[in-house]
Amino acid sequence: MIYILLGLPGAGKGTQGELLSKKLGIPRISTGDILRDAVRRETPLGKKAREAMERGELVSDEIVIGIVEEKLKSEDCSHGCILDGFPRNLKQARALEELGLPLRAIYIKVPEEEVIKRLSARRVCPNCGAVYNLITSPPKREGICDRCGTPLIQREDDREEVVRERIKVYKKQTEPIVDYYCRRNVLIEVNGQGSVEEVFSRIMEAM
Ligand code: AMP
Repeated sequence: MIYILLGLPGAGKGTQGELLSKKLGIPRISTGDILRDAVRRETPLGKKAREAMERGELVSDEIVIGIVEEKLKSEDCSHGCILDGFPRNLKQARALEELGLPLRAIYIKVPEEEVIKRLSARRVCPNCGAVYNLITSPPKREGICDRCGTPLIQREDDREEVVRERIKVYKKQTEPIVDYYCRRNVLIEVNGQGSVEEVFSRIMEAM
């Protein structure tokens, strides 16, 4: 089974995706993480993706569809996986459907004002990928990753003006796929407000 996580940037897809990955024993594939890693390493993929990412726009469909198809064919995903950040528009959703794999979409619903608050307080570890929130889940030592001791950073695209663009892109391009999966009867909708544990138990119940 392929589980698709849907929701505004900052809705908790990454956090819930990690928990789900541990619980179900299948990998979480985040196109955003793959692209950020490529940008950091300045690979040819990173060079192609960088500008769009910095502006909060989507990277080209050909690139991301290629990444996901390759991952889904790998041994790692032979028992399924959790897709975080893909599909992001109808073209990507159709490309995924063409692979003919069983799908389920989990829509984590959070109000827009709430995600803006969350993203401005989000800090990430550039080394191990751990995610913190300065208000709800701060690191034990200020500015330092609990897991690996690396100084935390704010994602470039978590700056307020870029967040607003990402939300605009989400509404125009990604929101229509909520409806797309609803019509196919594979959508689970979950209230994404509350603690990480509360949201996770809602997801498990709904599944
Ligand atoms: P995320 O970490 O999912 O918020 O993604 C960060 C950025 O990576 C997005 O703002 C896009 O620029 C790019 N990105 C991630 N996933 C996709 C996708 N499926 N299609 C196009 N661009 C993507």
